[in-house]
Amino acid sequence: MISRRKMLKMLATMPLIGGLAGSQLIRKPSGARLERPSYSRDFFTELGLRPFINARGTITRLSGSLMHPEVIEALNYASQQFVNLDDLQDMVGERIAEMLNCEAAMVTAGAASGMTLGTAAAITGKNPEMIRNLPNLEGRQREVIIQRTHRFSYDHAVRNTGIKLVEVDGPHELHRAVNQRTVMMLFYNAASEHSVSKEEFVKIGKHHNIPTFNDAAADVPPVENLFKYIEMGFDLVTFSGGKAIRGPQSAGLLFGRKDLIEAAKLNHNPNADTIGRGMKVNKEEILAMMVALEHYLARDHEADWKRWEEWVERINRSVRNVPSVETEEYVPPVANHVPHLRIRWDEERVKITPEEAREKLRFGHPSIETFGGRNSLDISVFMLQPEEVGIVGRRVKEVLEEAV
Ligand SMILES: *Cc1c(COP(=O)(O)O)cnc(C)c1O
Repeated sequence: MISRRKMLKMLATMPLIGGLAGSQLIRKPSGARLERPSYSRDFFTELGLRPFINARGTITRLSGSLMHPEVIEALNYASQQFVNLDDLQDMVGERIAEMLNCEAAMVTAGAASGMTLGTAAAITGKNPEMIRNLPNLEGRQREVIIQRTHRFSYDHAVRNTGIKLVEVDGPHELHRAVNQRTVMMLFYNAASEHSVSKEEFVKIGKHHNIPTFNDAAADVPPVENLFKYIEMGFDLVTFSGGKAIRGPQSAGLLFGRKDLIEAAKLNHNPNADTIGRGMKVNKEEILAMMVALEHYLARDHEADWKRWEEWVERINRSVRNVPSVETEEYVPPVANHVPHLRIRWDEERVKITPEEAREKLRFGHPSIETFGGRNSLDISVFMLQPEEVGIVGRRVKEVLEEAV
């Protein structure tokens, strides 16, 4: 077996051979890469890496999303001059809070960092000694309440403040779990099951005067979600900057109650003796995050949606005539909430498993990342560039037809 690493290296340096050389696939599509300037060095190729077409969606391991030129301009702008980092964070925070209609906001090193900083804020407030000592505080064990169905891998970003997660089912248990040790209530927006609704969760938080935190990291579109949870009464909300908003991948938004945002900032870089010091956000990312949000809010979201639907339809048309192929267009209810295509076939007639088809697409030219389980090949058009839609349609069709 060759390792995945080796395989990737081989493919990256392999000259394009045989049928592929004549295929449309490697021809630079006309009008392609308009948004991508040309560079004097091809760094990824130098490193033996293969960039790919992302038909998977905004996935951190696949490097999230691509930034729009306006955002890159902000990055470049900030990289060429010095500025006081606290002042920049404050001013950008004010602008973001205005844009999001809330009391206060800050740029974090992603939503996971927003979760740690928000929790830290709920624990320490502005107490300098507590900020210095976190996560090893004197006295009682602090607790954060979470619904049992909301436990998820990202709650590590809350646990790392030293708190204990207390799991509850339903409003009654939630009420009863609140005590002297409770510092926060954590809500996982994209959870598939809620034993306490958002509205009730917020109400119970307010009743006991415990801050409520909603992790909605991946939950735009719809764009309204950026406003909805604060309006509902959550005290803190976090979103990833580098998913649909298409800011820097290592940036995010934390916003909500002013006193909590101020406390979160005290727990953050550039303050050295803090839990957040390792979650540094540089001036480039802070500024670019603001610009990405401006750009995202100003978009024509209906037009975006229509375009995604058209793209799904184009890929659908391209593949659905392969014998036995059945397709379905769908929209995940929350997170990556955009049109997708699911492709299924009879493996007696198209003799390839979805897993094998995904591998073929991944190791083909160009490399295409797709997803799906054992029974389907799924395509997300969320992160496709316009010129890639046709390529994805043709490649999927080719891979399936070759197996007939
Ligand atoms: C992606 C994600 C995170 C982490 O976001 P980053 O911006 O990558 O730190 C946290 N929670 C959920 C639900 C997510 O989807």
